[in-house]
Amino acid sequence: MIKRPFFGLARPSLKHPVVVNREQDSVEEIPLPQKVTLFLSPHIKIDDIILRAGDKVITGQRLKLTGDGKDYLISTATGTITGISEYTGYLGQTCQAVSIEAAGDDQWDDEFNERGKTTSPENALEFFNYLPGNPDFQSLLSFQPPVNTIIINGIDKDLLIATNQLVFKTETESLIEGIEHLKKITRASSLFITVPSDLTAEAEKTGVPVHAVNPVYPNILPEIITKNILGRAVPPGKRCEEMGVGFINAEAVVSLTRAFAEGKIPVDKIVTVINKDYIPVNIRARIGTPVKDILKALNIETEHGDQIVLGGPMTGTAIYSEDMPVSPDTDAIMVLDKKRIVLGSGSHCINCGECVRACPARVPVNMLVRLLENGLYEEAAEQYDLLSCIECGLCSYVCVARIPVFHYIMLGKYEFSRIQSAEESNA
Ligand code: SF4
Ligand code: SF4
Repeated sequence: MIKRPFFGLARPSLKHPVVVNREQDSVEEIPLPQKVTLFLSPHIKIDDIILRAGDKVITGQRLKLTGDGKDYLISTATGTITGISEYTGYLGQTCQAVSIEAAGDDQWDDEFNERGKTTSPENALEFFNYLPGNPDFQSLLSFQPPVNTIIINGIDKDLLIATNQLVFKTETESLIEGIEHLKKITRASSLFITVPSDLTAEAEKTGVPVHAVNPVYPNILPEIITKNILGRAVPPGKRCEEMGVGFINAEAVVSLTRAFAEGKIPVDKIVTVINKDYIPVNIRARIGTPVKDILKALNIETEHGDQIVLGGPMTGTAIYSEDMPVSPDTDAIMVLDKKRIVLGSGSHCINCGECVRACPARVPVNMLVRLLENGLYEEAAEQYDLLSCIECGLCSYVCVARIPVFHYIMLGKYEFSRIQSAEESNA
């Protein structure tokens, strides 16, 4: 495998709209939908799920999915399970979805209040898997050697999104409290906060060291933060956690505060909704709310040919149905006017080199894409640095031939991991 030094570059200057102005401070509440849909991790097989259609559930209830009780989700409504179905998502991955018909008013589950309200790693693993902001406590707590540095994201990973900036701007007191919970749960020896310079004053109130990030994409990606702030280069194919560095979103930290203060696991998510005019609005919706309910509440109409994307413009993924729900990690919903969509092409690479110049990880993208187009995933990893990619999407953005390079790369990584897993299980 080729190993290249980090960051060479002539990247396009794409700025985050990081200043959360007064108008953007407000958050519109989306009503509880009639039905919530909760997605499960792809590794859970439908035959192993012990939940059944007809089961009654209440809000905040920890729903054990399998007999050993290790996998669970948190019910985000009070009502009845109406179905458990298989769903094919991005890259052809199969996962399961649990649908709950909401009965109306919430009845809250007591389990967390009665036995989960101490800040222990065990309780974090047992109750916080489905928290808004999607904290990955499994990674923060389970790596060996342990994660000893945690970075709190106060700036969102993709462009046009302002979810975590909004939290920093409007919920500073909750953040301060949540950071104390986070310290007790993880016992990490050092914490840092990353924010755009506009929010440095708010961030400094927390008492945690603050790093103001130049809000130019993709400066906020974990590998770049790890390199720029901590001086540690993440080797190809490795995760930041393997270097002792973990990340958590500001929204997840505030969710900890709410959980401990109220004795209830929070079940609603802040989402930046970007309409066809690119003007963002912030909403708060129940996790599991279908996209169509959010668009309806905001009076956003779509026409045949428009595109809906979950996530931001650089790394988001288009969805094929407005029934798709908000998940704990859904930071943005973008509605793209069909007139403005730049479609991918069936053209071949013309070897212009724009992608190579833009790539922050110095991947030879022009060569890599040739192998990926032909399904040569192992060769792509071994010869052309597939695993060095830090998933910024800039190569697709600059590609003059409009090749969907980023999606080829994501597919390549996914298929390569499947090949490796199959080899390991056959060994
Ligand atoms: S997505 Fe493309 S530009 Fe970004 S790191 Fe990966 S190969 Fe490089
Ligand atoms: S930008 Fe597109 S056309 Fe140019 S070298 Fe890269 S993949 Fe090929």
